[in-house]
Amino acid sequence: MSRPTDFFAYKNNVLTVDGVPLPEIAESTGTPVYVYSAEGLLRPFRELKKGLEGLDPLICFAVKSNSNVAILRLLANEGAGMDIVSGGELYRAGIAGVPGRDIVFSGVGKTPGEMARALEYGETGIFSFNVESEPELHMLSAVAQHMGRTAPIALRFNPDVDPKTHPYISTGLKKNKFGLNRKEILEIARDVSRYPGITIRGISIHIGSQLLSLAPLEDAFKRTRALLSELETLLPEPIRFVDLGGGVGITYRNEKTIPIPRYCAMIRKHFGPGARSGRPLKILIEPGRSISGNAGVLLSEVLYRKMRKEKDFLIVDAGMNDLVRPSLYGSFHDIVPVARMNGVRKKTDVVGPVCESGDCFASERPLPRKLDQGDLVAILSAGAYGFAMAGNYNSRPRAPEVLARNGRFELIRERETYEDLVRGEAISQPSRGRESAART
Ligand SMILES: *Cc1c(COP(=O)(O)O)cnc(C)c1O
Repeated sequence: MSRPTDFFAYKNNVLTVDGVPLPEIAESTGTPVYVYSAEGLLRPFRELKKGLEGLDPLICFAVKSNSNVAILRLLANEGAGMDIVSGGELYRAGIAGVPGRDIVFSGVGKTPGEMARALEYGETGIFSFNVESEPELHMLSAVAQHMGRTAPIALRFNPDVDPKTHPYISTGLKKNKFGLNRKEILEIARDVSRYPGITIRGISIHIGSQLLSLAPLEDAFKRTRALLSELETLLPEPIRFVDLGGGVGITYRNEKTIPIPRYCAMIRKHFGPGARSGRPLKILIEPGRSISGNAGVLLSEVLYRKMRKEKDFLIVDAGMNDLVRPSLYGSFHDIVPVARMNGVRKKTDVVGPVCESGDCFASERPLPRKLDQGDLVAILSAGAYGFAMAGNYNSRPRAPEVLARNGRFELIRERETYEDLVRGEAISQPSRGRESAART
């Protein structure tokens, strides 16, 4: 899988993306700014597509990893479907022009309103609701029936395997809130007539994110296969597809990642033609990070270097509100100067302006001593769960987003303004303070 600098390379000692020098972008948009490489998004997608050729694949990009409409459109134009987890993401998919037949809806807490929207999306509704509990199935059944529609569903199986990743991003363990266990799924299948307005078309799984080994995935695949055989004896109609989730990890530092051809070969082995009797299954996957992660950087300017004997602090203009992963998961992001720098290095904490000690992108990182006020740095591997998790803490407007392609770049989201910050707040009402001030 991709590495942090695959799509961001030094040319004439300046970091560039898809032929565009990053200082040009900073000049145009200011900093901090998210910058994405179109090549970086398309290459991993195409690799997956090639690997799954002949399996009637639908590769649903996990919208939550990077939900910018321009990026959804770029991937949809290449034939990507979308894996959504909310009505808001469905709305985005709609603006990007993604057809309903290419959308799957995951998540443990779909509301009746979201279900209704997805049922009437486009002309046809969406491809599948990946249902995560019996009460959710009940609700979907009621909503679909009320609308006079049939909801195509997959039951999300929680195979109870340990993905050996960060506890916050493991989802396929018994103790996690996600999915249904084998017993629950078989009970539903035995009693399908209790759910009018529902047709069970598939089984879905997703065991966690940033997976670095095939073993837990293979374990989950085996359990899914076994479940499929049991399930088919109970259902009136054959299962048509399996949705194998996302989760393939990327290199942030020096992690060895799962080679995509091996991942695809394993899918083929367990679910491809010949793996089972009967009609071959359609194969869905839901990659997020493995497509968008290393296709983006957060470009930031150094505000100050605060010097100490033991280590220096490099205070940059991006903060934890822009990229929360280091504070939330303690995750590693490589940080490089945009203008290549040689010379002495010193232990450096790279920190943001937010009033939290956790607002720290890197601690005790050996970085060039020369790096100082006004210099640009790129925080790498920020394309997934970067902007998508950004917020306005400390009343910081969210950063703009830029997409570079073939030597050009395009602003795909404007920087928020101060007016954006207070939109929807009761700003026109006179404050008590002002009233009493007027009286005196
Ligand atoms: C988050 C999520 C994904 C994407 O995970 P990545 O690790 O980014 O590939 C896919 N499917 C579901 C159901 C998810 O919740």
